[in-house]
Amino acid sequence: MSSTSPLASAPAPHRDFIRDLVAADAASNRYGREIATRFPPEPNGFPHLGHVKSICLNFGIRDEFGGRCNLRFDDTNPFTEDIKYVEAFKRDVRWLGFEWDAELYTSDYFGRLYEIAEHLVMDGKAYVDSQTEDEIRERRGTVTTTGTASPFRDRAVDENLSLLRRMRAGDFDDGAHVLRASIDMAHPNMVMRDPLLLRIRRASHYRQGDAWCLYPLYDFAHGLSDAIEGITHSLCTLEFKDNRDVYEWLVRAAGFVRPPEQTEFARLELDYTMLSKRKLLRLVNEGFVSGWDDPRMPTIAGMRRRGVTPEALRKFCDVIGVARKPARTELATFEHAVRDDLNMRVPRVMCVLRPLKVVITNFPEGEVEWHEASSYPRDVPLTGSRTIPFSRELYIERDDFMEAPPSKFYRLAPGREVRLRYGYFVTCSDVVKDASGNVVEVHCTYDPATRGGDAPDGRKVSGTIHWVSARHALECELRLYDRLFTVPNPDDVPDGLDFVSVLNPESLVTVRNAQIEPSVAKDAPGSRYQFERTGYFVSDATDSKPGALVFNRTVTLRDSWAKIKDK
Ligand code: ATP
Ligand code: MG
Repeated sequence: MSSTSPLASAPAPHRDFIRDLVAADAASNRYGREIATRFPPEPNGFPHLGHVKSICLNFGIRDEFGGRCNLRFDDTNPFTEDIKYVEAFKRDVRWLGFEWDAELYTSDYFGRLYEIAEHLVMDGKAYVDSQTEDEIRERRGTVTTTGTASPFRDRAVDENLSLLRRMRAGDFDDGAHVLRASIDMAHPNMVMRDPLLLRIRRASHYRQGDAWCLYPLYDFAHGLSDAIEGITHSLCTLEFKDNRDVYEWLVRAAGFVRPPEQTEFARLELDYTMLSKRKLLRLVNEGFVSGWDDPRMPTIAGMRRRGVTPEALRKFCDVIGVARKPARTELATFEHAVRDDLNMRVPRVMCVLRPLKVVITNFPEGEVEWHEASSYPRDVPLTGSRTIPFSRELYIERDDFMEAPPSKFYRLAPGREVRLRYGYFVTCSDVVKDASGNVVEVHCTYDPATRGGDAPDGRKVSGTIHWVSARHALECELRLYDRLFTVPNPDDVPDGLDFVSVLNPESLVTVRNAQIEPSVAKDAPGSRYQFERTGYFVSDATDSKPGALVFNRTVTLRDSWAKIKDK
């Protein structure tokens, strides 16, 4: 094995039809060379959760079977690609815990591809077509009718070669000619009806500059790049199924022995989410989100800023597996993987989202007690604790108090006793209201014998609530994120509408004066927590500053939407 990932000790992934295929090919040494995969993004946007699936599959196979996995940028379109996207992919593949065996660029093969093009022409397998791209499209036929041959299809080899060389030399305007494979204009697979291979585009490429005015199309570039690199298993998503015939035709026509084979799998489609760089770019460009790393974005950068760990993403991919049949994945499956992972690794702290002041009338003014609070529950393999200040004035959650509660309200109410987590039992004795009758303060008495949370006489309380000491708490901003779209499939909107019409207007709710226990002040930006009874949060690595703390909600403690639906 040429390289292993730092997370290679994770449990072996579930079996799937691709791993079975690779295992069989490895056992029979079908390719006569080591197993080689590649992850081939086009650098026209940031990587998203769909890419995570492909990354985990391609690098995962390398780690499991030995061999190698290349990171290859499929950068054949000079209009949309950029080095900043290359950098985002590199950073994020590494963040997921994978290292590539080689960093390669399709644009570095432009010379090789051009040579192959000349050979195809010399072999009579490609010709220069001087129709416009529109004419070519119109004559391609339909699924029920055959296509019509181009009037240029039977050009002599010498003429084709000379035209191709002049195309390369820049003698013609954009669109004047294209190079096409000469396959079969009546082929039942439309993609095989003389596919375009090269076209003239006078555009500056982010990597090649103005070195080329001929640019390869996907079909021409992709399979041949795989073949040039000695890839064995070319794994791609189902929408490329029809392209497989061209892939095979080209790698054989170009003379590769034991060329790679393409196998398709179902793309990840996650409910309430959009996995397409092109569409995510629109959200960025049109200001619907703050950028590629907006925590609502399903990009790796967004999810990282939201507090999701690489291990959670890898676990999620393992859980959903790889299959041939298209399927949508429920958001709950993703959130479950995120919660499961965070539950085992993050400390608990107390933060009050919507504070209500509580005065402990029998606790001496000015006095402070420091209570030991364990930071992990018993079923978590980590241990640790911090101390939290208890004083006469506290904040509790507004929702944890009701003046006239229904019978099943197990929190604070006049005359009721509750446990303040890691603190004391307190009983509500009085309520202070403003002129309009709103509760502005609650008075309680505490029982000094219950320090730590249990009564010596064994009496029970109706519930346990979280709190902070008013004097010591740090005011902070909380960004409560929710699903970005209001419908499970944002691609499936009525005619005339597009996916931005189903954006969730409440995907971000900002809470500005939450109060958090002071222990977090020492933590590094980007630290993750469970805010007890509230959710998993991460300090925002970009915006959080000492004295102006900002936390992003990664995920609620349980699926609050499911709860609402059940009501
Ligand atoms: P997008 O539509 O977001 O641009 P793409 O398919 O064009 O996606 P590329 O960057 O060209 O994306 O793809 C890199 C690799 O990631 C490809 O092998 C592609 O099949 C895979 N990939 C992209 N989206 C998904 C997805 N939703 N599920 C699984 N694999 C995906
Ligand atoms: Mg694409």
